[in-house]
Amino acid sequence: WDGRPLRPTIATIDLAALVHNLRQIRAVARDARVLAVVKANAYGHGAVPCARAIAAEGVAFLGVGLVEEGLELRAAGIDTPILVLDGAYADRFDLMLAERLTPVVFRKEQLEGLGAAARSLGLPAVAHLKLDTGMGRVGIQPDELSDFLDAARTHGVDLEGIATHLPNADVEGDPLTSRQMDQLAAAASAMRARGLDPRWIHHANSAALLSREDARGTLVRPGMLLYGSPPAEHLRSRIPLRPVMRLSTAVTHVKELPVGAPVSYGSRWIARRPSRIATLPVGYADGYDRLLSNVGEVLIGGKRVRIAGTVTMDQVMVDVTDVERVTVGDEAVLIGAQGDDEIRAEELARACGTIHYEIFCGIGPRVPRRFV
Ligand code: PLP
Repeated sequence: WDGRPLRPTIATIDLAALVHNLRQIRAVARDARVLAVVKANAYGHGAVPCARAIAAEGVAFLGVGLVEEGLELRAAGIDTPILVLDGAYADRFDLMLAERLTPVVFRKEQLEGLGAAARSLGLPAVAHLKLDTGMGRVGIQPDELSDFLDAARTHGVDLEGIATHLPNADVEGDPLTSRQMDQLAAAASAMRARGLDPRWIHHANSAALLSREDARGTLVRPGMLLYGSPPAEHLRSRIPLRPVMRLSTAVTHVKELPVGAPVSYGSRWIARRPSRIATLPVGYADGYDRLLSNVGEVLIGGKRVRIAGTVTMDQVMVDVTDVERVTVGDEAVLIGAQGDDEIRAEELARACGTIHYEIFCGIGPRVPRRFV
């Protein structure tokens, strides 16, 4: 086997759409440079090809969550500066330095570890400082800044950037966001007052980019916008985005069932009329959530059809009674457009009580990505 996909279930990734979205982001980023967030396998879209396409456009940074994700990009020959957003493993700063992965720091032990590793390798110790202004996840508290800057000096760490994260930027006029931005600006000023020069000041995720003209800093950190969805529905019309992922499969079996016939685990779907049922080779092991049982819809023959019964690990059944002709091999679209209709990840997310971020990130490794 040469490794080429055999199954028809496939995520087609439109790299031209990705680049289009990046250019749209640049237009609203004004003078700020872009850190393109490609963590979590580029939100399920395929880290290396997406990062490569983005890097070719000349962004300032790629943003990953994990050191391992940064190493994967370096192993693929991607040379763009990489910021590791979720921090670092204190005992592996040697690896980060050797592979030019810039850590985000928020604990003094990290300054100590980074400084020591840099000295022993004869390399500069450079990091971005994370300030917690209301996310409550990682970051120093604003009143710890002075102490932290002392520690950075002691350990010889150059804090070339300062960042914070906005949890409510999708809520227009949210007072927390304004307060967070003020705190970040004050911290940057305090650094300058000490003769430091944080070149990269960043906080603007996708939501901030769309909802606040004043949230830019010198670097913006979009993720979801790159992949063609607004972070929240009410921000959809702000910039013209193109969806990047299309998740499709093909019918593997079609049968006619009489009234009363059950379908799938738990017999949670029973034919109320003579029914035609098609089987699709995709299931929850691929990220097609079990919560879509009996409620999810897919496009076949340009028509919306509903999942019949429980989503299984590898397969789902759909009620195609109202579609004129369905045969084995016909394309079924789970996310994306077919004919005049489109199913968005947001629609799946609503049915699953989650957000489209989780839908995209959940598309599993069994689903081949085809890059076009
Ligand atoms: N910055 C940080 C630190 C993040 O954790 C994320 C995503 O989780 C982003 C930026 C990008 O967010 P979005 O995809 O909403 O633009």
